Amino acid sequence: MQKTISQTIETNGIGLHTGVTVNLKLKPAPENTGYIFVRTDLDDFEIPASVEYISHCSYATTLLRKGVLLSTCEHLLAALRGMEIDNCFIELDNIEIPILDGSSENWVELLETAGIVSQNAPHRFLQIKKEVVFEQGDKRMSVAPSDKYEIECAIDFPHPLIRRQSYSFELSNGSFGREIASARTFGFTQEIEMLRRANLALGGSLDNAIVLTPDGMLNENPLRFRDEFVRHKILDIIGDFALLGMPIQGKLTAYKSGHAVHASLMSKLLKTENAWEIVESFESRFQTAKNSPENNAA
Ligand SMILES: [Zn+2]
Repeated sequence: MQKTISQTIETNGIGLHTGVTVNLKLKPAPENTGYIFVRTDLDDFEIPASVEYISHCSYATTLLRKGVLLSTCEHLLAALRGMEIDNCFIELDNIEIPILDGSSENWVELLETAGIVSQNAPHRFLQIKKEVVFEQGDKRMSVAPSDKYEIECAIDFPHPLIRRQSYSFELSNGSFGREIASARTFGFTQEIEMLRRANLALGGSLDNAIVLTPDGMLNENPLRFRDEFVRHKILDIIGDFALLGMPIQGKLTAYKSGHAVHASLMSKLLKTENAWEIVESFESRFQTAKNSPENNAA
């Protein structure tokens, strides 16, 4: 069945790119709501987490509806999708989602603290019926049929701490919390200077990112995983693909992808006839029937 959180929880922090302070509440939402951002500083203006509102995605995924922006939504959306929550209101009083520690770990902890409940409508997912590929230069990403939600990702950076890293992930039974959630975002010192000149990364620090120098990193604490970089790419993929409005049943394969490639593949997928179908989970209905009070009474 679909799921939401049991109670409202709140946190606050700063935006990675704008540096602004943000107060944020996660609230339970009814069946078939999906994820909806609510700007409490702008008369509760709503921005649904949907592909149709993607505005730009150079260094983070930003949504735009009727002139109202919502920036850096991917790490929170990754936690919601990764925890298999279907419906949630996200209230915030500023333009950007707090970056917290640069991963999804704090979001997962908050969602676990709130508790997760089943609702009265069957779980829905986007079942992939045929392969769709997006390529741009040496970047490549595809989505293909599978009976699970799988991601295979590879990256290649000419940096001694990264080089070529690949990881295969299957979203099921808490795997997101164990394997992906704590992988942090990363940036290169040269790139950060350029971003700051463009008024970006203003809230960035060693508390919320891995900062790489040409031959090492500035952070004193060790990496959380040897392959933390590719795991974070998978985190970003899960967060961006949450904008489809439901989990996919299919396999994503990514090579050197980023937010812009994710957005291009999603829009190509949605425009490709016969490549997908919305399916309700009969398995969850069956399990609910088995566990219903009438059956237990017997
Ligand atoms: Zn990220």
